[in-house]
Amino acid sequence: MLAAKFGGVQCPVCSSEETRVVDSRSADDGQSIRRRRACSDCGHRFNTFERVEVSAHAAVLVTKQSGQTEPFEAAKIVAGLTAAAKGRPLAAADFESLVFEVEELARRRGGVVTSRWIGLAVLERLKQLDDVAYLRFASVYKDFSEIGDFQREAQLIKHESSSGPT
Ligand SMILES: [Zn+2]
Repeated sequence: MLAAKFGGVQCPVCSSEETRVVDSRSADDGQSIRRRRACSDCGHRFNTFERVEVSAHAAVLVTKQSGQTEPFEAAKIVAGLTAAAKGRPLAAADFESLVFEVEELARRRGGVVTSRWIGLAVLERLKQLDDVAYLRFASVYKDFSEIGDFQREAQLIKHESSSGPT
């Protein structure tokens, strides 16, 4: 569950920790993220505002397969996701929070990750959002992973949906 990854925020009304994110949007030019949350127990809705600490906002570096290292470019990944999700019921905020989450994870892992790691982290989250966008993104960025994995994934998804009309 994607929502579970944002857990740990208590409901201000009933103190339940079963709260889920219903909307996310970046603010302050990407320095902050505003989340709309809903309590699963009492239904109360509230906002959280998460600010990236300046000290924790060191650049994340990505090592490419060629051995070259370049800075993590959130905008580039968001653009790739937007293209992959054309016509799908996903909002820009979905991609921004996805990429934000991956960047934070990379930072916690020491700030230097491989392009393959980034690709898999993005794909893992995208798969939970939308199967079609996931497969399109996987096919465009196939250098992120073994092509065989994606073919197997495609067959699994095809098999799962073969009971209904396509
Ligand atoms: Zn509550």
